[in-house]
Amino acid sequence: MEKVQCLIIGSGPAGYTAAIYAARAELKPILYTGLQPGGQLTITTEVENFPGYPEGVQGPEMMEQFKQQAERFNVDIRWGIITEVDFSQRPFKAVADDGKEIMAETVIIATGASARWLGLESEQKYNGFGVSACATCDGYFFRGKDVAIVGGGDTAAEEATYLAKLCNKVYLVHRRDELRASKAMQKKVLETPNIEVLWDHVPLEILGDGKVVTGVQLKNVKTDVEKKVEIDGFFVAIGHAPNTSVFTGQLEMDNNGYLITKNDSTYTSVEGVFACGDVQDHVFRQAVTAAGSGCMSAIEAERFLSS
Ligand code: NDP
Repeated sequence: MEKVQCLIIGSGPAGYTAAIYAARAELKPILYTGLQPGGQLTITTEVENFPGYPEGVQGPEMMEQFKQQAERFNVDIRWGIITEVDFSQRPFKAVADDGKEIMAETVIIATGASARWLGLESEQKYNGFGVSACATCDGYFFRGKDVAIVGGGDTAAEEATYLAKLCNKVYLVHRRDELRASKAMQKKVLETPNIEVLWDHVPLEILGDGKVVTGVQLKNVKTDVEKKVEIDGFFVAIGHAPNTSVFTGQLEMDNNGYLITKNDSTYTSVEGVFACGDVQDHVFRQAVTAAGSGCMSAIEAERFLSS
């Protein structure tokens, strides 16, 4: 059994920022990286809106720099996941996937969010065989081919333009007649000649030959007319769900599973447990806001411990 003052769960911008602040406040934090070390930014390409990088920076490179900064302050970074927690009394108990038990005076949750899926049976069947939720990870496999991407937000728009550089043709399938993406991203999509937006369409089934994807069956939601589009790759970009299943029954959550934090703070429903980044933010969801709330969590943990 290991005793610590501050356990940080998650390694995106929120987790690493919390770690840097907690370490500098001499809380000697340990940080569990989770399943995707570095978080969602490790599966993006260029980040142009994080201040301090006037020329932009690649997401994975930026997260490596976050990690190096945490290491500079001797944060104990561990590759692993927390599989069980007990927040019913302090010190709080957490169990890692290697069976290690940790007793923590404070816990900072920065587990972020993961990609949502449509929920089609064929989507599961062909996952990894033409179906993907990460264009920047898997787009390369579809060089010169035709692909479809579903969604109308910034992620879908960004990934569509990324795919357009690699692929012959990109169908952007969106269930409404206007995109949710920012105006700048919309403009990029609409001005890219090999992107065709299929407005008012939803995927009914991903078609395949039993091994790989060969097409998608779509329906126009206004006319109910169905059509088949031949593609080799199908990308899903319809938003994210918070990674909170391990905290079920321990912390208050909203209907979508996001952790609830008290106004103007990162306090959760249990005193001494703090939440920062996308796991508690379904509004802004930016790297810079996640980092900001990670800083808040560490300062609040420090004040909590010294009060
Ligand atoms: P969003 O929640 O913004 O968009 C999800 C999109 O998927 C919407 O267009 C939605 O349609 C559609 N959708 C949702 N469920 C379904 C479904 N079951 N079937 C079909 N379509 C569906 O998620 P994003 O991941 O795009 O963005 C998340 C956040 O991250 C946003 O705040 C965004 O601004 C930010 N972001 C910023 C970037 C940047 O600044 N560079 C890059 C990427 C993301 P509808 O519009 O009809 O609801």
